[in-house]
Amino acid sequence: MAAAACNGIPEKQFKLPEIKFTKLFINGQFVDAISGRTFETIDPRSGEVIAKVAEGDKEDVDLAVQAARDAFDHGKWPRMTGMERGKIMMKLADLMSENVEELATLDSLDAGKLFTAGKALDIPGATDILRYYAGAADKFHGETLKMSRSMQGYTLREPIGVAGIIIPWNYPSGMFFAKASPAMAAGCTMVIKPAEQTPLSALYYAHLAKLAGVPDGVINVVTGFGPTAGAAIASHMDIDTVAFTGSTQVGKLIMEAAAKSNLKTVSLELGGKSPLIIFNDADVDMAGEICAAGSRVYVQEGIYDEFVRKSAERAKSWVVGDPFSPHVQQGPQVDRKQFEKVLKYIELGKTEGATLLTGGKPCGEKGYYIEPTIFTDDDMAIAQDEIFGPVMSLMKFKTVEEAIERANRTRYGLVAGIVTRDMNLVNRVSRSIRAGTIWVNCYFAFDKGCPFGGYKMSGFGRDYGLHALDKYLQVKAVVTPLYDSPWL
Ligand code: NAD
Repeated sequence: MAAAACNGIPEKQFKLPEIKFTKLFINGQFVDAISGRTFETIDPRSGEVIAKVAEGDKEDVDLAVQAARDAFDHGKWPRMTGMERGKIMMKLADLMSENVEELATLDSLDAGKLFTAGKALDIPGATDILRYYAGAADKFHGETLKMSRSMQGYTLREPIGVAGIIIPWNYPSGMFFAKASPAMAAGCTMVIKPAEQTPLSALYYAHLAKLAGVPDGVINVVTGFGPTAGAAIASHMDIDTVAFTGSTQVGKLIMEAAAKSNLKTVSLELGGKSPLIIFNDADVDMAGEICAAGSRVYVQEGIYDEFVRKSAERAKSWVVGDPFSPHVQQGPQVDRKQFEKVLKYIELGKTEGATLLTGGKPCGEKGYYIEPTIFTDDDMAIAQDEIFGPVMSLMKFKTVEEAIERANRTRYGLVAGIVTRDMNLVNRVSRSIRAGTIWVNCYFAFDKGCPFGGYKMSGFGRDYGLHALDKYLQVKAVVTPLYDSPWL
């Protein structure tokens, strides 16, 4: 398909920073993969190679798990007080703040993420997640039980052990710390596999963790591919829990591998196809701002035409281009595979008969850029399958009942959005939709204090908030007979 130029400011010659860390991080050392193999991490702005990174495999995961096991069974990390762990985590957060520019650069290069947003939001956000759990590290505890017999009973909340952490490419830094921070606070040790598209910042965090005083073996990073390194983590006999974010398809494999190996616990943050419902009383401009991030947008009939017109105008003025340019609003897709997947769905939308309102084509002479694309259609495959790209479906509805029914007509249940000024409507719809998060008159309102995770095939387990600690802790009951006590 011939690509028009992107409308963003033309790519300036950006000088690649030195890529300092490209090896696996195991037991406090950067090491080559046992096989000696490497893989190329690609710049999605151009399709060119940024660096060659060690390709970890099962043998490397074995070594990393051995280091994590040893650090958990014999090391000081799980045995120090929560406050001591918290201080080291705070130190790591400070080091991240000192290196914010370099870290944001790595994520922009690797994932095509907007550099300005990375520097102002993504990296500081990841740093704050770490600080949040550093503060929580000395504040979780068990309870004294009211036993029904003459017994003294209490619970301990103990770290679960070695955590395997497998994350995707869309928020390389945020995902790393959404999982690693509560695991660290709980006193777990861990083996982390970043996505093969975005390995660079994870290795940098391993380096900073060592500088901050995180003991060797507590954080191990194995870069590599899903079916090899990822699968070795999911099926490992010495890993006690796996925390995964990624596709529903791979989530099923992780759960199966956990069941077939050692019945490790699993938490899955999976795909979504989140509905955003905009009611007649909404301010159309405000709703337009909100829906920029939505993919399945239901608009009530009274404002539908106006909304469609304004959305098309907005999409056309949306600036696509080099993520290092401060004026750009949308960078490239992360890699060729994702780029082709999005374009395939756009073609599918056209053949299914959805109306293409705007966009629909790649842009730029090189790299993986796609125009913001809006379809108006009626619950076709493009409005059901997760596309994970700049493609939105706008659909018209009449009644509240219809909106609820159609919003719930999906196998996913990650998030839903509601735009209205009517509080009765907010209460009714937010309780009727089966999703883990409901954003009202806002969207993408992530917060480290607010639990996030799915219903239905969007998975189970929660990131963020104090709920996330539960994934990395287990409850032990301690019971002794009570003698000579005046009461139970
Ligand atoms: P993916 O499932 O293909 O990959 C995610 C991670 O799993 C990567 O690290 C990958 O290497 C690894 N992996 C792949 N195959 C594996 C296997 N057989 N065993 C173990 N690990 C394996 O997903 P993706 O395409 O890279 O990422 C996009 C997906 O992530 C989307 O579906 C998106 O919705 C989902 N996601 C969900 C959330 C959430 O919070 N629920 C957040 C971000 C992304």
